[in-house]
Amino acid sequence: MNFDTLDAGEIQVIRDTVRRLLSDYVERDDPARWDADSILPTEILQKLVALGLCGLTIPEQYGGAGRNIPAALAVVEELSMKSLALAVPYIMSAFYGGINILECGTEEQRKEFLPLVAKGELLLAFGVTEPDVGGDVASVKTMARRRNGRVVINGSKRFITGANIADFIYTLVKTGDRKYQNLSIVLIPRTAKGVTISKIESIGMRGGAYTCDLTFDDVDLSESLIVGGEEGWDRGWEMMAGPGLDVERLEVAATALGLATAALHDAWEYSKNRKQFGMLICGHQSVRHMLADMQTELQACRLMVDHAARMAQSGMRCRTESAMAKLFVCERAKQIVLNSQAILGAYGCVQGSDMERLVRDILILPIAGGSSAIQRNNIASSLGLPKG
Ligand SMILES: Cc1cc2nc3c(=O)[nH]c(=O)nc-3n(C[C@H](O)[C@H](O)[C@H](O)COP(=O)(O)OP(=O)(O)OC[C@H]3O[C@@H](n4cnc5c(N)ncnc54)[C@H](O)[C@@H]3O)c2cc1C
Repeated sequence: MNFDTLDAGEIQVIRDTVRRLLSDYVERDDPARWDADSILPTEILQKLVALGLCGLTIPEQYGGAGRNIPAALAVVEELSMKSLALAVPYIMSAFYGGINILECGTEEQRKEFLPLVAKGELLLAFGVTEPDVGGDVASVKTMARRRNGRVVINGSKRFITGANIADFIYTLVKTGDRKYQNLSIVLIPRTAKGVTISKIESIGMRGGAYTCDLTFDDVDLSESLIVGGEEGWDRGWEMMAGPGLDVERLEVAATALGLATAALHDAWEYSKNRKQFGMLICGHQSVRHMLADMQTELQACRLMVDHAARMAQSGMRCRTESAMAKLFVCERAKQIVLNSQAILGAYGCVQGSDMERLVRDILILPIAGGSSAIQRNNIASSLGLPKG
């Protein structure tokens, strides 16, 4: 496979631009404050929009900057290094909005919604998980019925990140009794009559786009909000398991990569300044080797994300590669963050410190977006391993 046509220099320029913007405008204590008080950093997010970064998943014909998956993932990684309060709203725009509508919407929906996404004026939350439904996604119980040209939704969703600020919830609904065949996706406006939203206090991802419980009580919508229109009805499983899912897994992996990079950077610097037993702790072989191992693992993680991202960019399915990246990167990133915390000793346990926040955030990523066990199942199945 040859992916050389993708311009690595262009992606580096985007990384540098994001890094410069964050260094110029984010104050030292901002990430801790956003996390503690569930603040949406609106001014910084507007600066990202002004740079055209929300359009990185959207072709130019719909007002975007041209679909560039590796570049958009690089932005996720850079933002995650600073704060998930920045990365999550970006994901809600460029990924939940841009990728999903582009892949699964009708032409009318693309023309209506994608220019708004590119301008940073449309945020989507991803509404799949329910109180009784986690990994077994196709068992959702939230029911959609069509009546006189309308769609009426009843049910509930759980752990939906950013539902409190989303314009629409991209919602997986059941339409009949057949498990995989009777599923659709509907765009439910956050402000529609019958939608109730409440906050879940989770240990991480605690910025202004926080995790929510949702209930839908006779939510009555126009059929134009069925993703994929008339032809999209009952094609929800196909859409959920389509190319958008590959990119969704990579976006979670890129988030984990950002958190691990930040943690390792802090541990590396700390080890060069902290002295114990008369020497810098980076001179103690156990610490030194741990740091070298973590740099090596981080490099492997970055290459896995990059490889799968380039496949997705070139229009290839990367089911196995994206599941492997999601599994490996989230699990290794968790270990890197925990090891980095250990290198900071007691200072890594101080409430309100960067390391404490990184630990709380990373613990979520091997679970959210399809747990590690589910990724292992996906990898075994997609490589054709018989079940028995
Ligand atoms: C902070 C946060 C934010 C989230 N944001 C969103 C969001 O925006 N939208 C959304 O839809 N969801 C969201 N989620 C939900 C997340 O995607 C689910 O938690 C995840 O899919 C796992 O579901 P579950 O927690 O119900 O676990 P379950 O599916 O109940 O699994 C429980 C345990 O059993 C294991 N297990 C389950 N099935 C199998 C199997 N077949 N083989 C082996 N092991 C198995 C799992 O790995 C896990 O360890 C979020 C979760 C968190 C914590």
